Formats: sequence, C-alpha cells, structure tokens
Amino acid sequence: MKKREHLVIPIFIPHEGCPYRCAFCNQSKITGVHVQSDEIMVQNTIKSYLSVFKADNMPNKREVAFYGGSFTGLGIERQKQLLKSVQPWIKSEKIHSVRVSTHSLVVDQYNISFLKKNNVRTIELGIQSTNKAVLRAVGRPCEFRKVSSAVNIIRKNDMKIGMQLMPGLPLDDELNFIKSVKDVIELKPDFARIYPTLVIKGTPLFELYKSGSYVPWNLNRMINIVKDSLIEFQKADIPVIRIGLHADRSMLDNLVDGPYHPSFRYLVDRLIARDKMFKLLNGLGNCPKNIKFKVPSRQVSLFLGHKKDNIFAIKKVFGIENIFLIQNDNQKEIELVA
Ligand code: SF4
Repeated sequence: MKKREHLVIPIFIPHEGCPYRCAFCNQSKITGVHVQSDEIMVQNTIKSYLSVFKADNMPNKREVAFYGGSFTGLGIERQKQLLKSVQPWIKSEKIHSVRVSTHSLVVDQYNISFLKKNNVRTIELGIQSTNKAVLRAVGRPCEFRKVSSAVNIIRKNDMKIGMQLMPGLPLDDELNFIKSVKDVIELKPDFARIYPTLVIKGTPLFELYKSGSYVPWNLNRMINIVKDSLIEFQKADIPVIRIGLHADRSMLDNLVDGPYHPSFRYLVDRLIARDKMFKLLNGLGNCPKNIKFKVPSRQVSLFLGHKKDNIFAIKKVFGIENIFLIQNDNQKEIELVA
C-alpha cells in the first residue's frame, strides 16, 4: 500500500450543536451515522483506522476530525467528553491533533481557547454562501460580520481555518456565488471545500424540490461555476481540498437529484486544462493542421479530457486534424511546441 501523507479519522456528530437545521442538510442521511458518538465509539474508530497501517506505512500526519455538526455549539460537558477521549492518543503520539467543523454563530474567544488547550489545531467553518437572500432561503441566517469575527478569533489563536461553500442553493446564481467565493478569499482561509448543492431525502430542500419550487442546477452549469471558483482560489493561492460529497453508500441511497458525478473534480480540472489549450491556440495567427503540446506526464488525462472531449472540442473549434500530447515528467505547465 502506498504511504499516505495525511490521515484524517472522521467521527460524526450529526447536527449536534447546530444553531438551526439548514434546509439542504441531513447529516445522518449523507454519513449513515444515526447514533450519538461516545468515548467508546471514538476509541474504536481511532483503533480501527490505525489498525490498517503497519509501522512502515503509517501516514506522517494523523488527525481526528469531529464532523457533521457545530462542535463549538455543543454544551461544554459534551465537548469535554469528546475531546477527552482523544487526548491519550495524542499523548502517545499516535494522533497529532484534532480538527472540528462548526458554525460562525457559535464561535467565541472562550470556546476557541478551550479547543486550543485540547489540541484542536484546525477549524472548518461552513459558510455555504455570503448572500443574505440565499442564506435566508435555506434557513441559515448569518451576517457576514459574524463570519469575519469568527475568523479573527480563530486566527488570533493561531489555528488553521478551512471554509466550505455550496453553489446552487435556492436563489443562488453565478454572480452571487462568485461574490461568495471572493468574500471568502478576502478572509484568507488556509483551505476551502466546495460542495455542489444536491437534493437529499429527509430535508426541507427535498420538499421544495417535490413542489417544484427548487430546481437543482444541471451538471454542466455546476461544473462551470465550480471551475470559475477554483480559478479564483488558485489565483489567491488557496487550496481547494475537496469538491463534492464523498460517494458514501448512505449518501448515494439518499440522493434524489442534483449535479452529482463520481469524478466531479476531474471534470472541472479537465475544463481548466481545455481552457489552457484554447488560450495557447488563440495566440497563434493561423492554426496548422497538426499540433503538438508538451504536457506534464501526470496530467495527460486532464488534457485529453473526459472520453477525449478536450481533443474533439479543439479539433472542432480550430479545424486541427491531429493533436499530439508529448508527456514529460519534468514539465510543470503545458507548452505548445509546434
Ligand atoms: S449545514 Fe452545518 S449548521 Fe447547517 S444543519 Fe448541517 S451541520 Fe448543522
């Protein structure tokens, strides 16, 4: 087994601590977790994740993550219970740190310094959108100044921040979403995640969908907005570490409609690759019939596209007959060579 750099052991606390129930969200349905985690479950989950690795292929960085709820909205006793069960693992250096996801409305100085004392090093904030009308439409009101204030508190405590966004919510559109992306970039998170909106059973969004009041975005529309967002994040040097929900059995069983694709990220990255090829060819006066690109070896599939759709698109637009991709291990960026 290839050695992984970073292991994140997820422990789900579905909806615990949330200030409200957002219209698109049903954590139990997307994670398949229906019971409350206790010390024994935390211990067993850590043990079972670590048992897969031998000493020589143990990931260098190992973290426990409390996901699926708003950790800092939990009562202090419950926070203590969960964090306490991880501390022996940290003491023995089998686990290095903890990360939690939470909501800006339940972040304050007291809570964050408590988390810091308990080895929490990363906080993920669900933002979803910064547009007031969109947030209201999904029952998730939160002033942007609350988000900024949560970010300031977390930064002052020298912790890492991740932010999650969701394109395609009710009342959202491309302009709104790019504005949300830019607002988030201004806050300089260490990383971001983008979750295209899907209709999941057992959510108010599902009811809106059944009544015809909500129509999910189609796959192409979603791929294009996520592509534009990714380019903004790349320009700001902020890694987008995840696009789309995990293809969990429970999530797939409860997915009703929406722009889901098992290789969503690849579809986005291959469009970015296509744009780069278009840009190089647009720079030529007259296109020859045969074209050669030098491309980084590990990105060949991106430049070919999904079922070679990048190659077909270029041939069609530029009237090129043959396109050759020359793979090069040392190549950092695509280059037009002839
Ligand atoms: S999106 Fe976050 S805050 Fe809203 S219900 Fe789900 S877990 Fe709770």
